[in-house]
Amino acid sequence: MKRKLNFKTVALALGISGIVVWGASIPFTKILNKNHIKNDENISISAEAEENKKEEEKIVNYVGTNEEGKKYTYDAKKVAQKLAKYDYSNDGKKVVFLTFDDGTSKTNTPEVLRILDENNVKATFFLTGSNIENGGETAKELIKEEFNRGHAIANHGYSHDIKKLYPGRYLDIDAFKADFEKNEELLKSVLGENFSTKVIRCPGGYMSWKGMEPLDKYLEENDMVSIDWNALNADAEGPKKNAQELTDYAIKTAEGKEMVVMLMHDTYGKEETVKALPAIIKYFKDNGYEFRTLV
Ligand SMILES: [Zn+2]
Repeated sequence: MKRKLNFKTVALALGISGIVVWGASIPFTKILNKNHIKNDENISISAEAEENKKEEEKIVNYVGTNEEGKKYTYDAKKVAQKLAKYDYSNDGKKVVFLTFDDGTSKTNTPEVLRILDENNVKATFFLTGSNIENGGETAKELIKEEFNRGHAIANHGYSHDIKKLYPGRYLDIDAFKADFEKNEELLKSVLGENFSTKVIRCPGGYMSWKGMEPLDKYLEENDMVSIDWNALNADAEGPKKNAQELTDYAIKTAEGKEMVVMLMHDTYGKEETVKALPAIIKYFKDNGYEFRTLV
């Protein structure tokens, strides 16, 4: 593997090799090609390269997803802006974002991950910190699984406590910030300091609350975005539905939209969502949608 070498490495290598090339037009990388240097020199270079690699790894920032996951991402800001205008067009290209809120659960999240893998599609998980901590090490391992498999991880706050976040239905920005920052810290403690996310989803949905201007300002200042949805399987509203009813609801709310942000839940008690998921995925595949994630 070719790696860009820093000045220190180049200087060291040149010192060892005794080649004077200052001012010459030969690229350093060519001079330092492993084929051109002897074994003992190679060891020094490797040690240096190894150190460089470690340094580079330290500064890789995983914003929402891992390296593999980057292939599937969409700019959540652009999607949110369209949703805010009820504009679900996408230049003739169909795209669906499967989103799962309130996880993780030890019961349903593993099944959701398995089904997504089986269908070779990626999703976005809006995680709730209190559920993660209640699930202990197993729940934390599940977040790592979500991340390692190239899904996107987003912030749904720590407590999901509606009364605390929006007393009297009005946003309490200080409580909100503290709650989401606490969750971000928890996610970092599990996924590493290099992990961060720009994407949040307000418990209950941004659309449901009043006095949200301070949040707009906070998101703007921190280069973050809040995103709701424009389709849902309704696994968290109205009377409890079976898998068929959830599938029908998902399709009914997605139909005719080129850009679909589908709200579902992988928390406790959502077994029917798991059962409905293969059929929901099939609908979007059959109708020519690409599956993407929000970062
Ligand atoms: Zn929620």
